[in-house]
Amino acid sequence: MTFDLRELYQQVILDHNKKPRNQHPLDTSFKAEGHNPLCGDRVTIYIHVEDDRIADVSFEGEGCAISTASASLMTQALKGKTIEEADKLIREFQEMVTGAPDAPDRMEHLGKLAVFQGVCEFPMRVKCATLAWHTFRAALDDTEDAVTTE
Ligand code: ZN
Repeated sequence: MTFDLRELYQQVILDHNKKPRNQHPLDTSFKAEGHNPLCGDRVTIYIHVEDDRIADVSFEGEGCAISTASASLMTQALKGKTIEEADKLIREFQEMVTGAPDAPDRMEHLGKLAVFQGVCEFPMRVKCATLAWHTFRAALDDTEDAVTTE
């Protein structure tokens, strides 16, 4: 990765950390809480599901820049997707941040989410980046148990 690209990626993460998108509660039964004890990140994900589609998704939480930016970018990426499409994106995001060997081939259609590709070099940070995504999955499944990355 060139220096300029890295710089750009950092700017996207900083921007979403400073001005998170879709950061508010929603009145819905599809919600879940997640916690990453290693870093202290906490997130609550809210989802409105209509006809097998993610009609709306939002989050609340406190955490490091990576966890907040990841939750913010995730809400943008998943809004309007079908549940099947959302599942696929969640899988691809996880493969990217955990450094799956063939992940770079799919980077293009991950769009802005590609800013997290550098995270795979920092195992501690992978949990920060994936917390919102695990929690989204739990909210869809309507799991009562709080999600923890441990
Ligand atoms: Zn964190």
